[in-house]
Amino acid sequence: MSALLEVLDHCARRVPLYRDVAPPAPGEPASAALARFPVLRRPRLLRAFPKELVPEGASLSAALASGEISFVGTSGTGGERVQVLWSQPWWDTQELDGFAPHALAWAAVREPGYREAVLTTPTCTGNLCHVGDLPMTERIDDDRVLFLNQKVDPALWSDRDAARMADELDAFQPVGLEADPAYLAYLAVRWARLGRTPHQPRFVELSYEQPSARHLAAIARVFPGVPVIDAYGSTECGFMLIACEAGRYHPNPRWHHLELAPLAGGLRPELARLLITPLGNRWLNLVRYDSGDLVRPQPEACPCGRAEPLLVASLEGRAKDAVLHAEGAVLTAREVDAALAPVAGLLHYRLIQAGPSTFEVDVVPDELDPLDPTEARDRLAALLGAEPRVRVVKSVAVEPSGKFRLSRATHVDLDVRLAVAS
Ligand SMILES: [Zn+2]
Repeated sequence: MSALLEVLDHCARRVPLYRDVAPPAPGEPASAALARFPVLRRPRLLRAFPKELVPEGASLSAALASGEISFVGTSGTGGERVQVLWSQPWWDTQELDGFAPHALAWAAVREPGYREAVLTTPTCTGNLCHVGDLPMTERIDDDRVLFLNQKVDPALWSDRDAARMADELDAFQPVGLEADPAYLAYLAVRWARLGRTPHQPRFVELSYEQPSARHLAAIARVFPGVPVIDAYGSTECGFMLIACEAGRYHPNPRWHHLELAPLAGGLRPELARLLITPLGNRWLNLVRYDSGDLVRPQPEACPCGRAEPLLVASLEGRAKDAVLHAEGAVLTAREVDAALAPVAGLLHYRLIQAGPSTFEVDVVPDELDPLDPTEARDRLAALLGAEPRVRVVKSVAVEPSGKFRLSRATHVDLDVRLAVAS
C-alpha cells in the first residue's frame, strides 16, 4: 500500500474527523480515494483539535505523558492560533529530507557537526520561544541551533542588537542560516549601515514567509556570493517545498502528498491553491489541508534535471494577501512585489486596498540608497490601474503572528473568493 493510501485508510477508519468518509476500497487508486475527502480548512481544524484528530484506540494523555507528542501552537496568520499534535522525530526527519532537491544544502545539513543559526520572530517557532533577554548559551538548542532574535519587531532592534547578532554569528560559525526574509533584510541593512560584514554561512535558507524581491536585494548585499534558497513549510504540515539551483520548487514526496487545486469560478487558471496531506505520522491526521497559499504550477520538466511528479514555478503568496486590479482582475502578492522589485532604496512596504481603486502604500527606506516614492507610486499605478497614495514611513507594524503582510485588500474577502473549486 502506498504511503498516501495508508494515511487515507488510517484516517477514514480511525480518525473521528473523517468518520463520514469511506476508506479506500481494495485496488482503488489513491487519487480516487483522496477525492472523497473534503478540503480541510483552518476553522475546521481549530474545531477538531485535539479530540477529533486522535486515532481511535490511541491515548492522547499517554502519548503526551510519555513525550511521544506535544501540543504546539502555530504562529497562525489569521488571528487565530492553530495547535497541532507535534511529533519531534517525524518533524526532524522530514525537515532533513526537505533539503534533498538542493545539492549544496543537502550535503551541508547531513555533515557531522552541522550547525545553523535561526533568525525569525522570537514569539514561537515550532515548539520554541525566545522572547526576552537571554545569554547566547541559553539560546543554543542541542549544541546545534542558535536562535538569534529576541525582539518581536525588527524595526525596534538597536545598533547594539544588530552588533550582538553579528558577534554571535562570528562566534557560532553556523554552516546554514535559516531566516524569515523580512527579519534578515532589516538586519542586513543595519549591518550595512554599521559597516559590519558578519560570518558568511555556506547557504541562507528563507522560510516562515514569502520573501520580497527587495528583501532578497538587501540580503545579497551582506551575503554576496552566498546561495539564498527559498523554502516553504508550516508548523501544521512540515517542510513541503524547496527551490533547487534553477529556482523552481521541488516537493518532499516521502513526507507530503501535495495537490495543486484549481481556483473556483475558473479564476486565474494558471494558478492553483496548495492542498497538503502529510504522510508517515499517525498523529498528524490532516488530509487535503488548505494551506491558504497560491502557487503557479510548472508543467514542464525542471532545467535542474530532477524528475518530480509535481513542480511549482513560483510561490504567489497567500490568497488573503492578493489584491484586485481597479477593473477587478486578481493580482497575487508576488505580482505586487514584482512591480516594486526595481525600486532602489526600498527595504519593505505595506500595500492596503480599501476600495476598488483606493490603494494606500507605506514604503520603508533602506537608508542606504535614496528612495524615490514617486517611482514606487508609478510602478504600482501601472500594475493596479489606479494611482496609490504613497507614504514614506520608518517601519510598518509586524502582525501578532510575528509575520508581515506586504499586501492585502480590506474591502473584499479574497481568501474566500479564491477558494478551491469544488
Ligand atoms: Zn529543479
